[in-house]
Amino acid sequence: MDPHHAARERAASLPLDALSTRLAGDVVVPTDDGYDEARRVWNGMVNAYPMVIAYCRSADDVVDCVAFARDHGLSVSVRSGGHSVSGASVAGDLVVDCSRMEWVRVDPDARTARVGPGATWGTVDRATQSVGLATPGGVYSETGVAGLTLGGGTGYLSPKHGFTADNLRAVDVVTGSGERITADAERNADLLWAARGGGTVGVVTAFEFELHPLDHDIAYAESWLPLDEADATLAAYRSYQRTAPAESCIFPYFDTVPSTAAFPSERRGDPALVLAGVYAGAPEHAREGLGPVVDHDAAFASSFETMSYLELQTMMDDDFPAGRRYYWKSVPLATLEDGAIETLRDAAERAPSSLSTIVLWPMHGAVSEAEADTSPVVGRDAAVVANVEAAWDDPLATERTVEWVRETCRELRADASLAGTLPNFAGGSDPDADDVYAGNAARLREVRERYDPDGIFTHERE
Ligand SMILES: Cc1cc2nc3c(=O)[nH]c(=O)nc-3n(C[C@H](O)[C@H](O)[C@H](O)COP(=O)(O)OP(=O)(O)OC[C@H]3O[C@@H](n4cnc5c(N)ncnc54)[C@H](O)[C@@H]3O)c2cc1C
Repeated sequence: MDPHHAARERAASLPLDALSTRLAGDVVVPTDDGYDEARRVWNGMVNAYPMVIAYCRSADDVVDCVAFARDHGLSVSVRSGGHSVSGASVAGDLVVDCSRMEWVRVDPDARTARVGPGATWGTVDRATQSVGLATPGGVYSETGVAGLTLGGGTGYLSPKHGFTADNLRAVDVVTGSGERITADAERNADLLWAARGGGTVGVVTAFEFELHPLDHDIAYAESWLPLDEADATLAAYRSYQRTAPAESCIFPYFDTVPSTAAFPSERRGDPALVLAGVYAGAPEHAREGLGPVVDHDAAFASSFETMSYLELQTMMDDDFPAGRRYYWKSVPLATLEDGAIETLRDAAERAPSSLSTIVLWPMHGAVSEAEADTSPVVGRDAAVVANVEAAWDDPLATERTVEWVRETCRELRADASLAGTLPNFAGGSDPDADDVYAGNAARLREVRERYDPDGIFTHERE
């Protein structure tokens, strides 16, 4: 039976009118005209057919959805920004969609922000920057605050202020038993710990973040280098990272030279190493702080500019259009050994599509200084985390592109990797997903069992 038909048959057996009448938000089922639009997520690879998609307007709506799911034995997935790479947010029978719970309230005196689960980073950054504050978010303004935080969250400010989840002070949650509770340092502290990167332990209906002063422009620099410079450049980066200042976030990445006037014609289409860096301190110290990036002798194209934090946070927005095919995985590297550098350079050389990249995110400063039991996320002691990010359009290229990511990650793991991986880039329900939480997995499982005793969210990030 085709999956749309199967979803329609199963949904037909449910008293869905009872759910629609209770909810302030809309309910979409497989027989509705808007179903195909409603089941779509950012990644064009994801093609899930949930039985019910419930657009919640409030925590009360969420409570009703969880009660309905429990009564009828349905699994639940939660969607907020819809940017889960693996499509975990539409993997359940019932999708609790929080995208319409989009609100932000900033308290400039307390330096905190309360945020609804439907908010994107763009909304939060605009609200916090209007009073000269910020919390470390992702580097793409359309990703959801909810999923990114519940998966740890890394961004340009992470070396200075930690993972996004390290800045999470409290959450309001609807548990798997349908109870509404708050978790903070005093109440249900185990649930707050799990929410700092442990995925869906319940449906989070409000997040509270700590904010930090940020009222000046930020420097951004990049240098494009031929691939044959990669080994020496990354070896020098490895040394630099050992004492890198917390203000600097230098993230080298492998990419294909674009066919635009900014690049020499003879280089266009070639694989290259890009040294890119953000300096989150005062701009007058940026050139020194971003030492290895600026004025690189071998660069065939380079730039150095200062911009507002809001400009920085939207700089990559055109690079990841919705609907394209994506497959991402990541590997934390204890040290950036010569063998790992060689693996990365080889992988870049045989990248199956010019849209695919490999990014190295640094894990120094506040990320590595935080206590290991701050959150379930492992990998803080890595030198860098390598994100292998494939993107392509041709459906016929899927098999070889996915295999390129998997093979590269297998080789990196054999080089010098640490156990576990960053939850946001783990592969979720993908059968090839890695063991995400390594040494923290057992503790996380216990917390999940406490707050979701019947396992209605268990298909998430297992
Ligand atoms: C273009 C792009 C750029 C990215 N950049 C970064 C980056 O800079 N840093 C980084 O760390 N990550 C980054 N990511 C990864 C991103 O953080 C994850 O994909 C994240 O899961 C997206 O969250 P979302 O709310 O948009 O997604 P969704 O698909 O809505 O949800 C993601 C996961 O969180 C769960 N979830 C969502 N809302 C709730 C809720 N309210 N309560 C409980 N569980 C919930 C979902 O069930 C799902 O498992 C990026 C992803 C993309 C696509």
